[in-house]
Amino acid sequence: MVGAGYAGLLATKRLDRLLRRHDVTITLVNASDRFVERVRLHQLAAGQGFSDHSSLRRQLDGTSVRLVVGRVTAIDAASRTVAVDTPQAVGAPPASIDYDTLVYALGSGARLDDVPGAPAHAYAVADLEQATRLRHRISQMAVRGTVVVVGAGLTGLETATEVAESCPELRVRLLTSADGVGSGLMPRARRHLRYALDRLGVVVHTKTVVAEVREDGLDTCDGVPFAAETVVWATGFRVPELAHASGFATGEDGRMLVDATLRSISHPDVYAVGDAAAGISPSGAPGRMSCQSALAMGRGVADVIAARLSGAEPEPVRIGYVFTNISLGRRDGIIQFTRADDSPRRFVLTGRAAAVFKETVVRSTVRKPRGGSVCSG
Ligand SMILES: Cc1cc2nc3c(=O)[nH]c(=O)nc-3n(C[C@H](O)[C@H](O)[C@H](O)COP(=O)(O)OP(=O)(O)OC[C@H]3O[C@@H](n4cnc5c(N)ncnc54)[C@H](O)[C@@H]3O)c2cc1C
Repeated sequence: MVGAGYAGLLATKRLDRLLRRHDVTITLVNASDRFVERVRLHQLAAGQGFSDHSSLRRQLDGTSVRLVVGRVTAIDAASRTVAVDTPQAVGAPPASIDYDTLVYALGSGARLDDVPGAPAHAYAVADLEQATRLRHRISQMAVRGTVVVVGAGLTGLETATEVAESCPELRVRLLTSADGVGSGLMPRARRHLRYALDRLGVVVHTKTVVAEVREDGLDTCDGVPFAAETVVWATGFRVPELAHASGFATGEDGRMLVDATLRSISHPDVYAVGDAAAGISPSGAPGRMSCQSALAMGRGVADVIAARLSGAEPEPVRIGYVFTNISLGRRDGIIQFTRADDSPRRFVLTGRAAAVFKETVVRSTVRKPRGGSVCSG
């Protein structure tokens, strides 16, 4: 198993339980020894405390899983080996780990190379290091300093509102190339979103495309400069190039192409789950990168592998959606209930009840140690 995020960790624990009576060794390789609750990284960036159920060793207590802390640098599908750079062996050649079955669960990161200047000057919340860097930056900003968040998808919305609520002394602007915010939400949810952004003082700039990020702000394609001490890049996620570089079949966005059992369409001994996999959702398209899909895939891949090892034909893995969960600071939110294909239902929850709902769901994703069915949307 490579990657111990929502998908990889759930799959590992569930496989450990399902394969207890088999003569199987499960090795989990992860870049750090912590489980990172990515869905809370905007909270971390805004200066809030971070949860402490993060030790992977503690998460794996009571299992027979072997944890290897290190960064996967290459996968050799021909020799079925994974090369891992371990922190203990700096300067030494990467460790080589053999596999019979590989589950690829390396998640995703920020799309910082979208425009010139962003890699050097923009901040992000897609991983722990980036969110920690942003937190540090924000803590040093002067009163009335400006934070510009680029991208009004779920991560951009959650980041802009969280920073605005936690740091009311700062000015927050939200830039989007779209002509509005909250596409995919029912009208009542969209209205609530606009209301919440206004209430928190977040100024929204629609139809605004960024051409370049500078040290002191950014320029738009219309030639309009925005001055900002801090630019946060939240235009979506990009997956690691490792799957493509290692010769696995991948889509245009680099996600590993898999069949209905999450098995690589090019390499039958390899599976992919979570953001890094193009798992097919009920709409027929690859599912959206989300905790909800990651948990469904993590659970599903464990069942598939256990079934195949027992000589049974596995069921296809169902990646269905239940809701889209948006936090708007700690006291407000939107739960847009959805059909399995992720299209919105009429039912929407807003305000404090939505904030409590989301907090409950997020907590349950880390508390469920053995592969329950709770998911975050
Ligand atoms: C701020 C923010 C808020 C979000 N809010 C929501 C939300 O409300 N609801 C929702 O559904 N989704 C949300 N998401 C998206 C959600 O976090 C991801 O979809 C989810 O984390 C994907 O899970 P995963 O297991 O595929 O990958 P990840 O959780 O990213 O885990 C990948 C793991 O692989 C490890 N790794 C990566 N590369 C290597 C390597 N080369 N070698 C070894 N290890 C490696 C990483 O360290 C990590 O442990 C949010 C994301 C962010 C950033």
